[in-house]
Amino acid sequence: DTTTLSETQEVLQDSFDHTVFAWSKQKGISPIAVKSAKGVYMYDYDDKRYIDFSSGLMNVNIGHGNQRITEAVVKQMQEVSYVTPYCVTKVRGELGKKLAEICPGDLNKAFFTLCGATSNEAAIKLARLYTGRHKILSRYQSYHGATYGTLSVGGDPRKLPDDSQQAPNFVHIDIPYRYRWNHDEESMLNDSVAQLERVIAYEGPGNIAAIMLEGESGTSGCLQYPVGYLAAVRKICDKHGILIIIDEVMSGFGRTGKWFGFENHGIVPDMVTMAKGITSGYIPFGCLMVTDKIAARYDDTVLATGMTYAAHPVGCAAALETLKIYEDENLIENAVEMGKYMDAQAAILMEKHPSIGDFRNTGLLGCFELVKNRTTKEPMAPFNARPEEMAVMSKVAARIKELGMYTFVRWSYVFVAPPLCVTKEQIDEGLAIISEALKIADEYVNQ
Ligand code: PLP
Repeated sequence: DTTTLSETQEVLQDSFDHTVFAWSKQKGISPIAVKSAKGVYMYDYDDKRYIDFSSGLMNVNIGHGNQRITEAVVKQMQEVSYVTPYCVTKVRGELGKKLAEICPGDLNKAFFTLCGATSNEAAIKLARLYTGRHKILSRYQSYHGATYGTLSVGGDPRKLPDDSQQAPNFVHIDIPYRYRWNHDEESMLNDSVAQLERVIAYEGPGNIAAIMLEGESGTSGCLQYPVGYLAAVRKICDKHGILIIIDEVMSGFGRTGKWFGFENHGIVPDMVTMAKGITSGYIPFGCLMVTDKIAARYDDTVLATGMTYAAHPVGCAAALETLKIYEDENLIENAVEMGKYMDAQAAILMEKHPSIGDFRNTGLLGCFELVKNRTTKEPMAPFNARPEEMAVMSKVAARIKELGMYTFVRWSYVFVAPPLCVTKEQIDEGLAIISEALKIADEYVNQ
C-alpha cells in the first residue's frame, strides 16, 4: 500500500521505478534522498544530516545553498534565459574576461560548453584541427568524461565494458604511482620522461596533436605526478610541436589550493578544460580556454564545433558569480590552510588505523588508500574491483553513510575533498566519522 510510504520512501521509490543510476548496478543500492543542503551539509527527508566530504563529485567547491548564485541565476533568467551561441549576453563577455584574468600566460579566450566531457571533446577537436595531426596521448590512470571521445582519451577502466567503442588514435602512457612503485623521486621522473619520449618516437611526433593530462589526478586516486614531470612534458612537447591540454575539470577552482592544479607545477598549458567548480555544480557548465595563438587561427578559419547551449546565459551568470565568491570568501586561501590541517589530522589517523596504507592530498583533493597489509601493500579492494571484491570497502562505505557522511568511495580509496569553505571543526567531525568506519577495515588487516 503506497499510502503508507514515508516521504523518503516515496522519493526513492519513484526514482527506482522510473530512473536509472549512473555507473551502478540498479539493484541493491541505497542512495541518499536529499531534501536540502547548506554549506558542507546535506539533509534527507527524515532530517538526517550528512557532512559532504567529497563536495558532491568534487564540484561543489563553494559549498551548498549559496543564495548569491540563486539570485544571479534568477536575475539572468528574468532578463534573458536563453540566446543562441550566435548572440551575445553581457555575462558571456564578462565571464570570458574574468577567466582570462585568472588564467596565467596568454590563455585569454574561452569557448563555453556544458560540462567536463564537452569541454574535453572541444579540446580534442581543436587540437586536431589546429595541428593537422590526429593522435592524442593521455595517462592510463585518468578520467576525462563518459562520451565516446573522452572515454577513449581517459584510461579509466569504466570504459572497458564497452571497449569495442574505444576510438582510434588515442595512446596511453603510464605515469608512476608513487606509493606502489617503490622508486625514488629521481628515477620516477627519469623513467616516466624516458617512457614519454619513447612513446612519442614510436607513434611519430608528427602524428601527435596533443597530450591531455589532469591538472592533478582525481578519481584515479589522487596519483600525484613525479616532481618536475609536467615541466619536463612542457619541454618535450615544445620540441615536437605537441599541444598540452590540461584538464582542470576536477582540480580547478581552488580545489588544490591554487586556481588551477597546473599552477602547482609551474607550467602554462596551451589549452585548459574546466567544468565542475566553475559553477560549483549549481548549473551544468564548462569551458575550454585557449591561448591567443590558438584562438587566432580561427580569425579567418571556421571554428568547426558548437552546441545549442554553448555560452548559455544562465550558466555564464552562475559561473561569474561563483568566481566572485571564491574571491570574496577567500576560499582558495582557506583550501590551502584547511589542506594543511587535513594533512596533519590524516597523519594522526594513519597512526591509529593499520588499514591506512597511504594518504595523498593536494589542497583539498585527497584520499586514503586502504590496504590489508602495510608491508605487502595488498589493497583492500583491487584496481577495477568487481562488486564482490568490494565487500570490505562496501561495509566501510555503508558505515560512513550510517554515521552521517557522504563521500566518494572507489576501490580502496576513501576520498576527502570537502567544500573549500570547510572549517577545522568540520574536518574533525568528518575525520572522526572516517576513523570510526575504519575500525571495520582494520579488522581485515592481516599483518
Ligand atoms: N575530467 C575530469 C578530470 C573529471 O574528473 C571529470 C568528472 O569527474 C570529467 C572530466 C567529466 O566531467 P563531466 O562529468 O562534467 O562530463
